[in-house]
Amino acid sequence: MTISIAATHARGKFATDKIFGAAAAANLAVGKYGKDKVINATIGAILDDNEALVCLPTVEKVFRTLPINEVINYAPIAGLPEFLEAAMALTFGDNRPEAYTNAVATSGGSGVLHHTIWNYSEIGDKILTSDWYWGPYKVLCEDALRKLDTFTLFDENQNFNSKAFEAKVNELLVKQDSLVTILNTPAHNPTGYSISDSEWDNILDVVKAAAKNEAKRIVILVDAAYLDYAGEKNECRAFLKKFSNLPDNVLIILAFSMSKSYTMYGQRTGAMIGISRSQAVIKEFADINQYSSRATWSNINRGCMRLLATVYNDKATLAQVEQERAHYYSLIRERSQIFVREAKAANLRMLPYIAGFFLTIPAADPDAVCGKLHDDHIFAVPLGKGVRVAVCAVPSAKITGMAGKVAQALAAV
Ligand code: PLP
Repeated sequence: MTISIAATHARGKFATDKIFGAAAAANLAVGKYGKDKVINATIGAILDDNEALVCLPTVEKVFRTLPINEVINYAPIAGLPEFLEAAMALTFGDNRPEAYTNAVATSGGSGVLHHTIWNYSEIGDKILTSDWYWGPYKVLCEDALRKLDTFTLFDENQNFNSKAFEAKVNELLVKQDSLVTILNTPAHNPTGYSISDSEWDNILDVVKAAAKNEAKRIVILVDAAYLDYAGEKNECRAFLKKFSNLPDNVLIILAFSMSKSYTMYGQRTGAMIGISRSQAVIKEFADINQYSSRATWSNINRGCMRLLATVYNDKATLAQVEQERAHYYSLIRERSQIFVREAKAANLRMLPYIAGFFLTIPAADPDAVCGKLHDDHIFAVPLGKGVRVAVCAVPSAKITGMAGKVAQALAAV
């Protein structure tokens, strides 16, 4: 018998990450057959048409010219004030809601998820998200001794399922007084869906109705990791204005991340942005989340915070970064359009893709489909109910023909 000396809550925990597993299989195949023969659609980062990892050139330039003290020194626990200002301004664009707002620096978007779960739900509570979700949500909940529950994301017309959302919110609020809901939008991972402005109206109607019971505390965490790859800047931020004048017992938290927006994945820099009608709720937001940062990772990456502040405070530099990002947005768009077009031709049913790094094909046995695709040296990620294709990482030349192969694999298993 193996001995465990871990505490009871930690015993048996083991992070099996399907994404890294699929990526490892792809790398093995590259070693065996050569890069040209392998399609690696597992990577959640932008690769260019030569399959090299992209760093936005102006981001790299600014980063490399930072004074060394700005790279090595500690930073304030809450984050550099100039960084927090920039993170808020860049997230809101022209759509700042009428509300109190404040921000706290975090270790990427993952840090926002961590603090929100820890500080806004009780131990044992259920956290709500959609049935299609980014796998780490579950790990983040369970490590914090919470559980993840889901509502059905799409209705029969492939729109946001407001009825399912409403039913689940009300069901959970019968049993618990705090409810954290995580909505990854726009450009959702793994489907590429973006909640529309009118669907946001429905969501907020449900939240406002539930908040009439003043004993309840409702937090909506908008995981906006892909916001900068979701379409026209202010159009895809228009929903943020709707967070004006919500009830005092509702808090909106936006997860800002530099991972995708500034191609700084491993630099672990992000911010949680709180939005509330109540000044007290926002003061508490800043206080308790800074406290959790102190207790979790202390301060975050100073150099990357300085990078964002530098980019934001120079109009020409910011414009340059936005132009470079727009180029990669177009590249991803071109790749996804090829897949969507070919999927239609092959009668391959996809989940509704609007924008973003990934698209998903529903499947009864995703592992079998992905296994079958290996025969064609195609590597994708098997999810619980579908196969995820990272259009951010596969050049157009390799995307061409891929939907047909997926349709064949689906038919063969
Ligand atoms: N949310 C989603 C949906 C993601 O896909 C990711 C990264 O892959 C993140 C959040 C968090 O990224 P990071 O912690 O690097 O900011």
